[in-house]
Amino acid sequence: MSRTLVAATRRVLGSRRRGDRAAASPPAGAGDAALVADLVEAIGSDRVRADTASRYLASRDASIYREGNAGPVCYPGSTSDVVACVQVAARHGRAVSPRGAGTGLAGGAAPLGQPVVLAMTRMDKLLGVDLDNGVAWVQPGMVNLDLSRALAPHGVHYAPDPSSQAACTIGGNVANNSGGPHCLAYGVTSAHVVAVEVVLSDGSVVTLGDLTAEPAGYDLRGAFVGSEGMCGIATAVAVRLTRNPPAVRTMLLCFDDVSDAAATVSAIIAAGIVPAAIEMMDQRCVTAVEDFAQAGYPKDAAAVLLVEVDGPAGGVAIASEKVAGIARRNQAISVRTAADEDERARLWKGRKSAFGAVANVMPDYYLHDTVVPRTRLVEVLERIYEIVDRYDLIVLNVFHAGDGNLHPILAYDSRVPGTDERVHAAGREIIEMSLDMGGALTGEHGIGVEKREHMNRMFSAVDLDQQSRLRASFDPHCRMNPGKVLPSAHSCSDIGALRAADAAGVWG
Ligand SMILES: Cc1cc2nc3c(=O)[nH]c(=O)nc-3n(C[C@H](O)[C@H](O)[C@H](O)COP(=O)(O)OP(=O)(O)OC[C@H]3O[C@@H](n4cnc5c(N)ncnc54)[C@H](O)[C@@H]3O)c2cc1C
Repeated sequence: MSRTLVAATRRVLGSRRRGDRAAASPPAGAGDAALVADLVEAIGSDRVRADTASRYLASRDASIYREGNAGPVCYPGSTSDVVACVQVAARHGRAVSPRGAGTGLAGGAAPLGQPVVLAMTRMDKLLGVDLDNGVAWVQPGMVNLDLSRALAPHGVHYAPDPSSQAACTIGGNVANNSGGPHCLAYGVTSAHVVAVEVVLSDGSVVTLGDLTAEPAGYDLRGAFVGSEGMCGIATAVAVRLTRNPPAVRTMLLCFDDVSDAAATVSAIIAAGIVPAAIEMMDQRCVTAVEDFAQAGYPKDAAAVLLVEVDGPAGGVAIASEKVAGIARRNQAISVRTAADEDERARLWKGRKSAFGAVANVMPDYYLHDTVVPRTRLVEVLERIYEIVDRYDLIVLNVFHAGDGNLHPILAYDSRVPGTDERVHAAGREIIEMSLDMGGALTGEHGIGVEKREHMNRMFSAVDLDQQSRLRASFDPHCRMNPGKVLPSAHSCSDIGALRAADAAGVWG
């Protein structure tokens, strides 16, 4: 970290606005009065909530999981607030669950037991931009899209762009190693995080990684990215800046057969072209999106591909010509290039509002996230349709086709008796089938609670023990977001931490 940035970081992180200590404490949850009083003493009453509504809101994320309840909810404003909260929680023998915007889809931020929740959304500042090193320091509660907007005057942006980027935070992105449409060419979050300041479970503060090109020692930064809140709490993140490309071309390729669209994806990559993004939607998804966002997608296409190429203007022109030719050779029924920035934005708005559009189809949805070899996309899609038909459900498919990252959306109405069971059973089959095809459990949403018990299917007992040991080296008492990711047989100390909450009479 440059000295200026260190100073800027310390200034912002250190400037805590304390609440009025004399103000009345918020009402305590059962068994939590002493804990709440200590948290208020540590960070101020305006930063601690223990009322039922606040705890309820912090007890879920965007997944369908709710197994525990939030204990007191803290809104730290600085690293020292986070340290204080972690130390108070440790004194009371309580676990800590960090959360960002709560857009996670695997239950990562849905607390188990009744931990102290640290909602990081008030730590949302851009701490400094270092164009010389191509790095910016940000607080973890900064919203992903706000970061790129703040960087725009410098001609740079933050490349990972989850479809939830208007809401999700950089801290949540780091914890889940999130991806997004443009991660095909640019890489997922781990490729864009240079260093992280972390508060460990004993309250000590470490900086993992640094700004040098070849950092010495073990890559603990790499181990932290994707650790789903279980290795500590990120309080500042140094992100890599990506220059805005001089030219961009966005194309909508439409097909009347899904297999032609899938063959086009493989052919583009085989031709040595790595577009910035290749996204695919099937007909049901296109219809829902078009009705919702009027993005200009043809509802009669069996599948559409949204392909974006970027870089120097000459290269973009050549690559987009090649993509169009490949699509036509694979029976594309139309090839359209966005004429201007407005049309490009409209095409992307369609893709990025795909999940919201499901609300017009059914009141509930369960979004899956597995990865399969790109070459098996057609086979996998056929299997998904077959599974979903068998369970009498509706599926909309939208996915990062370029890297084989599937997102089948099971749309349903949970008020219909028995539907939840069918949705879960179909979801399990989709996960199993993806693994059978040589795929992976998750492309970007993480393991959380959702896929914890599938970890045994993907990793050996030795692998899982090693993962558990790595986690314990950051958090020996397993107090950070316990019970997530590692399946029960490999997370005994997590279960110990949850039982301690139970014994203290605070189990949710
Ligand atoms: C409509 C929609 C579209 C989505 N599209 C994408 C997509 O394209 N790509 C993608 O990857 N994901 C996507 N997601 C999933 C989700 O947005 C991402 O996982 C995102 O990174 C979560 O960020 P968050 O701030 O909401 O974190 P939360 O959901 O609040 O938390 C996620 C995890 O991060 C941990 N955490 C949060 N802050 C910290 C911190 N400061 N330190 C340590 N741990 C922390 C939590 O404990 C939890 O385990 C989508 C979700 C929705 C609802």
